[in-house]
Amino acid sequence: MSTPQAEQHRFEAEVDQVLSIVVNSLYSHREVFLRELISNSSDALDKLAFRALTEKELMGDDKELRIEIVPDAENKTLTIRDNGVGMTHDELVQNLGTIARSGSRQLVEAMKAKAEGKGELSLIGQFGVGFYSAFLVADRVRVVSRAAGSDEAWAWESDAKDGYTVEPAEREGRGTDIVLSLKDDADEYAREWDLKDLIRKYSDYVRHPIRLQVTRGEGDDKKTEWDTVNQASALWTRPKSEIEDLQYNEFYKHLSHDWSDPLAWTHFKVEGTQELTGLLFVPGQAPFDLFDQRNKRGVRLFVKRVFIMEDCEELLPEWLRFMRGVIDSEDLPLNVSRELLQQDRVTRAIKKQVTKKTLGLLQELADEGVTEIEQESEDDDGNETTEKVERNRYETFWQQFGRVLKEGVHFDPEYTDEIARLLRYESSANRGLVSLPDYVAKMDPDQPGIYYVTGDSLEACRNSPHLEALRKKGYEVLYMADPIDEWVVQRLTEFEDKKLIAASKGALDLPETEEEKKEHEAKAKGLEEVVGKVKEALSDRVEDVRVSSRLTDSPACLVTSEQGLSPHLERILRANGQPIPEQKRILELNPDHPVVKALTGMADDAERLPRWSGLLYDQALLAEGSMPKDPAALAKAIAELMQKAT
Ligand code: ADP
Repeated sequence: MSTPQAEQHRFEAEVDQVLSIVVNSLYSHREVFLRELISNSSDALDKLAFRALTEKELMGDDKELRIEIVPDAENKTLTIRDNGVGMTHDELVQNLGTIARSGSRQLVEAMKAKAEGKGELSLIGQFGVGFYSAFLVADRVRVVSRAAGSDEAWAWESDAKDGYTVEPAEREGRGTDIVLSLKDDADEYAREWDLKDLIRKYSDYVRHPIRLQVTRGEGDDKKTEWDTVNQASALWTRPKSEIEDLQYNEFYKHLSHDWSDPLAWTHFKVEGTQELTGLLFVPGQAPFDLFDQRNKRGVRLFVKRVFIMEDCEELLPEWLRFMRGVIDSEDLPLNVSRELLQQDRVTRAIKKQVTKKTLGLLQELADEGVTEIEQESEDDDGNETTEKVERNRYETFWQQFGRVLKEGVHFDPEYTDEIARLLRYESSANRGLVSLPDYVAKMDPDQPGIYYVTGDSLEACRNSPHLEALRKKGYEVLYMADPIDEWVVQRLTEFEDKKLIAASKGALDLPETEEEKKEHEAKAKGLEEVVGKVKEALSDRVEDVRVSSRLTDSPACLVTSEQGLSPHLERILRANGQPIPEQKRILELNPDHPVVKALTGMADDAERLPRWSGLLYDQALLAEGSMPKDPAALAKAIAELMQKAT
């Protein structure tokens, strides 16, 4: 209990919100509090070990790093204690009284954005609420901490309602005690057996010993002893065959602060010139801030089992920034710093391994395709049932992280081939997500290449007039509706010796029979005069006008030259404030369309021909999703035509 002299503090407004979210949304998962607190203790021990590399005095005589769990059924308390770095007065205030971590702040914002804040477990899962989960089982929490190297201890205490107090306290040696006064309905967390089960289930991956205080004997023989409950070795150093999925899952949650299971992982050892062990996870869902440059990312770096740093970006290429995990190197020096890593040869070698292993893992998921798994669930009466469900882990991955992976095609030519195999696109064949190997396997032998169309949305791609002739031929066209795809196709010009061809660029050069060729030439000849006139009328807007072989239904479309920017890319660059000079394109006319045929009749009409030409040009712009220069004039022209038609 705090004394009258204790400093009174209010929580930051957001902390109150986080607390109420935690308590309201996570009630049915409340046992996770133990994992969160043990996870914090484990981090505190790692940080101490790291600092003690250079500040030996911090370790002192208290060299056995450990976590202790002390249940007290009589007083209904549970204490989680560690001899890690501890916290100073200011750190207690900063770490436990504010939400300095951007994650919590974003959680609050995300929750506010939702009308109803309850039951949003998956949302909370993207942030992790750590320490505050203590209030799921405790109505009062007292934290007594003494920072390593300091001889003062401080006690932080709160009932989560009226702010918190901070006051001087006593503590022998460095470290932190978290004392939970358990809620009336949470007394199971003061029972040895329940605790033992929970620790084994959720925290076995922790590499520091977790000791549980147990009482043995009866009456006068009663005494307390310590039982080490976990295996207390770094998970990644254990043989794969001895690690259960559950342990991998829990370790991932510890590393990532995610509440959901990872999608997949790879656990590997590299021997030879570079020795390292890696355990890398693909998260199950993308964090909120995946595209935020300030997003913390990367893996945890260990050197010979000593924790060195969190969020080590240097070991991952930018386009794999969603990966989480641990790299434990045998070759880096223990005093390695960020600056050193940035120019280090060993780092580059490690990065390459990490990249290769990750791409290998993703390819494995892609090859796995759809699988059936057994899923346990509870029915309304609380009975456990198992049912078979289908899952496609790669599609899940692709939906969450595909956009990030695509960046690799552009920025890392070294891996273009591997990444290209992992790309997925919707296509005109309506067969779900298609890979390039899939596409090539289904290709017509005489098909000139892999066709794609870029656009602002799938809908725009699907309706693009440029696809008409390709559809008629039965050629599949990939829909590229992501802005990043424009950069992908700049690098990825070929796949398995097949060219990637933009449906809206250059001459399509579709294979045609002698007869078709003759027919096309005849039509072009018949329209020669009109084409010349239209070109004259539009000379300030188009580079050329020609008779099209790509249209079947639309009267006209605009085509970019082989090297030109696609209109989609042009729009993206403009939207980003880049000055893009006006590009003239080629207007193609469909010789079979009644409107085009009608043009021949007005070749000498100096008033109507230019007007119709302008209309054709504007509607071609609309059809591809671009805005005509003067929409008002177009609207007026359409109204006039409609009026005439009635
Ligand atoms: P997170 O662990 O996600 O950063 P928490 O709310 O769990 O968030 O904890 C906030 C901060 O409080 C931690 O980042 C850490 O600096 C500090 N902290 C929590 N528990 C301990 C502990 N047992 N020892 C030392 N510091 C701790």
